[in-house]
Parts: sequence; C-alpha cells; structure tokens
Amino acid sequence: MAVDSPLSSQLGPPACERDAKALHFIEETTSHADSVQDRVLTEILTRNSQTEYLTRFKLNGATDRETFKSKLPIITYEDLQPEIHRIANGDRSAILSAHPISEFLTSSGTSAGERKLMPTIKEELDRRRLLYSLLMPVMNLYVPGLERGKGLYFLFVKSETRTPGGLLARPVLTSYYKSDHFKTRPYDPYNVYTSPNEAILCPDSFQSMYAQMLCGLLQRQQVLRVGAVFASGLLRAIRFLQLNWPQLTQDIETGALNPKLTDPSLREYMDKILKPNPELAECVRHECSKDNWEGIIARIWQNTKYLDVIVTGAMAQYIPTLDYYSGGLPLACTMYASSECYFGLNLKPMCKPSQVSYTIMPNMAYFEFLPHEPDSFGFPRDSLPKLVDLVDVEVGKEYELVITTYAGLYRYRVGDILRVTGFHNSAPQFHFVRRKNVLLSIDSDKTDEAELQKAVENASRLLREFNTSVVEYTSYADTRTIPGHYVIYWELLGKDSANSPTDEVLKQCCLAMEESLNSVYRQGRVADNSIGPLEIRVVKNGTFEELMDYAISRGASINQYKVPRCVNFTPIMELLDSRVVSSHFSPASPHWTPERRR
Ligand code: AMP
Repeated sequence: MAVDSPLSSQLGPPACERDAKALHFIEETTSHADSVQDRVLTEILTRNSQTEYLTRFKLNGATDRETFKSKLPIITYEDLQPEIHRIANGDRSAILSAHPISEFLTSSGTSAGERKLMPTIKEELDRRRLLYSLLMPVMNLYVPGLERGKGLYFLFVKSETRTPGGLLARPVLTSYYKSDHFKTRPYDPYNVYTSPNEAILCPDSFQSMYAQMLCGLLQRQQVLRVGAVFASGLLRAIRFLQLNWPQLTQDIETGALNPKLTDPSLREYMDKILKPNPELAECVRHECSKDNWEGIIARIWQNTKYLDVIVTGAMAQYIPTLDYYSGGLPLACTMYASSECYFGLNLKPMCKPSQVSYTIMPNMAYFEFLPHEPDSFGFPRDSLPKLVDLVDVEVGKEYELVITTYAGLYRYRVGDILRVTGFHNSAPQFHFVRRKNVLLSIDSDKTDEAELQKAVENASRLLREFNTSVVEYTSYADTRTIPGHYVIYWELLGKDSANSPTDEVLKQCCLAMEESLNSVYRQGRVADNSIGPLEIRVVKNGTFEELMDYAISRGASINQYKVPRCVNFTPIMELLDSRVVSSHFSPASPHWTPERRR
C-alpha cells in the first residue's frame, strides 16, 4: 500500500517510508546532477591529491573541472598497465588512490587474453549497496505486493585468485556476495530471496545451482519474480532444470537430498527445509515431463509477475528464448553497472526491453562523455573531440562513457557506447547501444575481431600438412541452443584432394581456436558451462563470393566491400547454412585455470 509521506516523490507514491527516502534521494541527486558531479570530482581530487598519478600530471591540488580536464589525459586500460602491475605485485604506496586498494575486481573485458584487473577500495561497497537499495523502491512503484512473496534469483560466486603481491582478484559480484553488506543484510520484506546465502556462496557451481533450484521449487507458490544477473544465466538455470528435474523431484518426493550435494553448510540448510512432499513433486514432474517447455517458468512459478534479468546490449539476443520459456512475462532490466563502477538504474523497469534507458546516478563517479561518430572508425588518439559533462549531453547523440572513480581511475574509457534518450530532472538517461569492439558474445565473454583472427590463424596451422588453407571466414553466436556456442564458417582451399583434412583434424582446429580465445571465454567453457563447444562449419568453395554478390546487390560498394567477420542477418545466415558441406565440434574443453597466464 502506498504511504502518504511528506517525502512523496514525483516518480510516484512510494510503497513504504524507506522507499520514500530512496525515491527522494533519486529526485534530489538527479535534480542537482551538476553540483553533485562537482562535489564528486572535488572529493576524488582532494583526497587523492598526493597520489603518484595526480602528482605526475601536476594537478597541484587543483580540484576544478577546467584544470582537471586540461591536465589529465583520457586513458584506456592499456595506459594503466604499469600502475596495475605494480599494485598487483605488492606496491602499497598511494599510486592511484589515497585509500588502500582492497582488492582487484576482474572484469569480463580482457587485455592480452586475461581479465582486466580493476583496483577498488573498501568504501566502493557502500556505493554499490546504495545503488542496489534504490532498485526495489523503483520497482515497487510499478509492481505492488512484492513484499508478500519472494524472488527466485540465481546468483553465483566465481573462483578467486591472489595477485603476486597478495591482493584478491575476483569478479565484482563475487566480491559483493561475499561481503558483509550482502551476507548480513537486514531483513527487507520487499527483497527476500528463495536462495539462502549457503547456496549463493557455495563455490561449486553444480551444487549451488541445484540447491537454488530446489529452494525455488519448494517455495514455488511464494515466488513473485524470477531472475539472474544476465539473461544467459537465467536460461542456463532453465537448461539445468531440463537436465535435473527427475532428481530434483525425487528429492522433493522423498525429502532426502541428492547425495551429490556434499557442501556441509549447504546440506545442513537443505536438511532443515526439505520434507517429503509427494504432491509438489508430482506437480513439478507433471510440467517438466511434457515435451513442450513453452511457458515453463509461468507454469511452475505461477505467481511470477516479471523476470528480472539484463536483456540490453549483447543480451538482447536472448529475448525470444526468454519469451518462449516464460510465456511472455515482462522483462525488467533494472541496472547498469561494471567492475570499474556502478553507473545507474532504470527508472521505468517494466518498460519494453527496446525502450530501456538507464539514468546515470551522479553520485557514483565523475562522468564525462566522448562524442561518438557511429559510422567513423573512431578518432585518432591525439585529436579526440572535446568531452562533454553529464548534464551537457544532447538527446539523440551517441557517446562513449569516460569515468573518474573514487578508487583511482581518472578519465578512463569504459568502452560502452550510449545514446541519450532523455533526462530525468537534470540527469541524462541512456540507451545502451553496444560495447566497442565486441564481435562475439554468448555469456559474459567478449571476443573481438583481432582475437578471432588470431584464433583462426592458430587453428589453420593444423591444416598445413594437408596443403589446405582458410581462404575466408566469418562467425556467428548461435544462441538457439542452451548454452549457446560460437560458429565459425570456413571456406577452405585444398591443393591436394587426396589428402584433405579429416573430421578429426577439423575437430582439433575447433579446439585450437578455443585454446586461443581469451580467458573469459575459456572459463565459460570449462568452469561455468555457459558456452557450448565451438563449431566449425566448412562451406562450399565460392560461398564468400556469393556473400559479396549479395551485399553488393543490397547496395554495398564493390571497392569498399569487406568480409563481415561476424554475421547475424537471417538471409546471410540462410545463404551460409545452405552451403555447409560439413560441421565439426570441439571434442574437449580448452585449458583454463583461475590463475592468470601472465
Ligand atoms: P564487467 O566489467 O565484467 O563487470 O562488465 C561490465 C560491462 O557489462 C559494462 O561495461 C557493459 O558493457 C555491460 N553491461 C553491464 N550492465 C549492462 C546493462 N544493463 N545492459 C547492457 N550491458 C551492460
């Protein structure tokens, strides 16, 4: 029920006093976006004035925007490598931040094949918690009654390592779930999960998923929303149910937990809540044993009001599959964040995925925007156009996000391209357009053109002894199956038809490509099972010429035509698939360990 509060928000009537405060905070912060940005920059520059980095650029204690912009360069991760290395190797001096670097967050963006290491400081956890605390108050404006049930969220921790200097390196969500901010969060009736901490924090991904699914089934009537961080994660959970429902229903029927769940704290928790329930088991079995899984989420969790998953950016490819399994439940994209910094939230979370706009919260970091020309190849480094401040971006224009954070990134290019769709008060709202340089993505992996090229080169070495070479190639992220997988189309030129590469050799080529891909890809293949085996489809000779003819018939210039290294336009896919002569899958998992290669 909406409360009558003196803090009543123009976003809508808040559901409770605490929501009123959160909505008021959003209103205040977005109404004074520019002065909040001023304060944030001043705070960051004041506290870090004695750091090696700011001293190097002779900021001399200045905290104003003009001096900051005139003295500090706009940088990428590669520029910071020396500093990151020193911190990773144990240099505890104030290099980037006056506050001690508490750990590294390992981004899904990679550099030289390994996850980027993002320095962070303890207090960033408070900022992350603050952004999380705004999500439900906004959602409660649109979906009443969420305090009367629970959320079935599939949340996982991933492996962590230590740098040579002893700092932890792990993904931002692993860091968050393992923090007291999450583990000892106060009870909030609007934000109760079916998954216990014991399951979320279980490092074994099978046991964690099994327990979370079982808890979700046991509490099926109470589930009002179903979610995961990314769409691919929720689909992985559905696939897990497809594979494991016989055992799950047996556990429910008998009240005896699957012996494969060996984690002691998990067992202890599950033993407490698992009681024989043949009726529930039969009901779940009845749904799962049907051949047709259309609408399975809504059939099992009948009270679900929406799915909470990110389906913007690369995840948009999963919308049709999610619609299929959910029977068309609304998809809510609530927030936009990264390892470097949490950025903002969607103030209309129940809008259509194509309409999603994220409002950047001006208190999270100091934000600048590099105008982006959609059709250009980017600006040379020394002639970047002038960066624009948060409140000065223009509706309809595209920008690359540049951030200055409390943890010590200064004018750092995140690599995301955003389009301004409007403003909430004086804070702009952005449509996530895409991440720069990403060719292929299934889960959190991001493979760029150079990585694909290198993988093809490495794999094609195996063809030399057959006098065969790869004359052309392109790729496709096939998400029609769960998990999705990379498909690489190869047109081969063989000089010796009596000695052409066998299926076994082409399978080894698939594996060789996987070995060349970055560590996020290989982790998805090996540890997370979020990516299926890579497939090579060999196409008939002349196929790529046909592809060019097709492009030219649709208006491409013959002089400027370049083979697209990734395709997803249906007629092109159909053309390619109709020319396939053989298809080959990677026969084994590539090498991956949590340890970094360098
Ligand atoms: P990571 O550094 O691995 O945490 O990944 C962060 C990146 O994921 C961002 O820079 C975006 O490219 C992408 N991302 C995060 N949130 C969203 C979102 N809501 N929609 C689209 N892409 C997102």
